[in-house]
Amino acid sequence: MAATQRDVNPFPYSDSNKRYYTYDYYLRKKFGVKAVKIPLDAGFSCPHIKKDGFGCTFCSQRGSGDTVPELPSLREQYDAGRRALSSKWDTSVTLAYLQAHTNTFAPRPVLERVYDEVLSFPGVRGLNIATRADCLPPDVLDLLAGVSEKTALTVELGLQSSNDVTAGRIHRGHTFACFLRGFGDLRERVPKAEICVHLIFGLPGEDADMMMKTVSDTASLEPDQVKIHLLHVLDGTPLADEWRRGGYVPLTKEAYVSAVCTALTLLPPRTVIARLTGDGLPGSLLAPLWSRKKVSVINDIDKKLYSEGLYQGCRFTG
Ligand code: SF4
Repeated sequence: MAATQRDVNPFPYSDSNKRYYTYDYYLRKKFGVKAVKIPLDAGFSCPHIKKDGFGCTFCSQRGSGDTVPELPSLREQYDAGRRALSSKWDTSVTLAYLQAHTNTFAPRPVLERVYDEVLSFPGVRGLNIATRADCLPPDVLDLLAGVSEKTALTVELGLQSSNDVTAGRIHRGHTFACFLRGFGDLRERVPKAEICVHLIFGLPGEDADMMMKTVSDTASLEPDQVKIHLLHVLDGTPLADEWRRGGYVPLTKEAYVSAVCTALTLLPPRTVIARLTGDGLPGSLLAPLWSRKKVSVINDIDKKLYSEGLYQGCRFTG
């Protein structure tokens, strides 16, 4: 019988044909079952929205929390999210995911109440907190250290690009040096937390070399997890205006697949790849429309890695 792609897979942290450390594999190893992530919106804002009146140029009105059911209480959102996933997955083990906006951007007592509340929901075995590296003051780090003693805590930091010119162009509102300080503080003061770094490919003005510079900068930090997103043009955003004027051209599928494959080779083999492409919401995604076929993108990545003999970390230099 001919050897399958799985039989000849050289990547050690995989029990399938995947040549990278998938989030599914990580969750099954950690919890013994597949845990599902339930996105939540606690109603926070972001520091630069508060300061300048607007946030990152690509971000939706709901602060990237568009998949959260529009319900008033966290418990209602949680129950609805869990119900929606239950037709597809076993939802007995969940991770509460504070996804929308910056979930450390509130006074400590408010944050403490929100974190305690979501941790009390049935089935919750871990908490994921999406935030920014410039929004981790000492009292919040202390709070996070306490949370990490009680549950599996992951703090998700939006870097997107390590290039400060790009950061200015997308109005990220903080520099790479600031990101490094926040990342370092989090590592040092909350050592039990896992850190997930978010990257975006296809940002305005970035070519493949710039994207891979961000990947190399990220790899040198050896984060626990990385999420790679494709930049989506969403209706109602400043990026959509730029795109309509012809000032922004989205990546082609081929360029994205190629960038992801190269990025995987540069990242440490033990960094979990928590996402390889984003969900463009059907109602608001303007471009690139090829990204709606997520399975096809993932398949092309798998095929390219296999045909070129590549796998995660094969070019990681430590
Ligand atoms: S920090 Fe995150 S949630 Fe806030 S505007 Fe930027 S991308 Fe959106």
